[in-house]
Amino acid sequence: MRIADFSPLSHFLTFSLSQYGVFVRLGLFGGTFNPIHLGHLRAAIEVREAFNLDRLLLIPSAHPPHKPADHVANAEDRLEMVRLAIQGEPWLEASDVELARPGLSYTIETLRYFQDQFGPESDIHFIVGQDAFSEITTWKSYQALFSTAHFIVMTSPTSKLHNLEDIIHTQISGEYQYDPRFNRYSRPGWCNIYCLNITHLDISATKIRGWIRRGRSIRFLVPDIIHDFINKKGLYL
Ligand code: ATP
Repeated sequence: MRIADFSPLSHFLTFSLSQYGVFVRLGLFGGTFNPIHLGHLRAAIEVREAFNLDRLLLIPSAHPPHKPADHVANAEDRLEMVRLAIQGEPWLEASDVELARPGLSYTIETLRYFQDQFGPESDIHFIVGQDAFSEITTWKSYQALFSTAHFIVMTSPTSKLHNLEDIIHTQISGEYQYDPRFNRYSRPGWCNIYCLNITHLDISATKIRGWIRRGRSIRFLVPDIIHDFINKKGLYL
């Protein structure tokens, strides 16, 4: 039985069903989302389709360990933008789990939280861009991440895949083997690391914030509702 057969479901119902051993293919997409943009949303759709995910949670980092705090809009506004951006897509959900937790937002804690909530019946996939993955060794307890959730590394046709393989073999484990049938690295007893080529739109939150500061339009880089929210609140000026 798949959660998607019941969509739209509330967050609450999803958690309740998982307690009864219903198999959930879950995607977790973490980020600063400062602000969320069409690059993130397009990526979410492509990952969901490629991996047949039942639900995909967008998880804004409350206190991102790797970003200077003075460039980051407050967490409630970033979460609200995620909520607004995903309206009408019942399989997408905004998660406040990192806002509810004090201190810096570490991915390992988030993955363990969802592992506890969904139980061993579920398949948890953490979604990350290749740029973010290439800094994995700076993440807290990064080795432990690979016994907690599968990784989906979003690549583009121009990505340097040998860099990715270097990181996996030198920093994570030399025993990860590439399996071209699934475009993944696997190691018995460890979680898989999948590579997925996506349509990488040339949009970044840094670019968006820079354009706002310079008085340039950001229309068609973000959903209209996010454009209006940013204008109304005067964010990133
Ligand atoms: P910033 O420019 O402030 O660093 P960002 O736009 O890269 O932000 P984040 O919120 O930090 O966005 O990224 C969250 C995740 O989304 C990361 O894994 C990142 O690699 C990925 N990502 C960012 N931009 C894109 C894009 N245009 N297409 C696909 N994935 C993206």
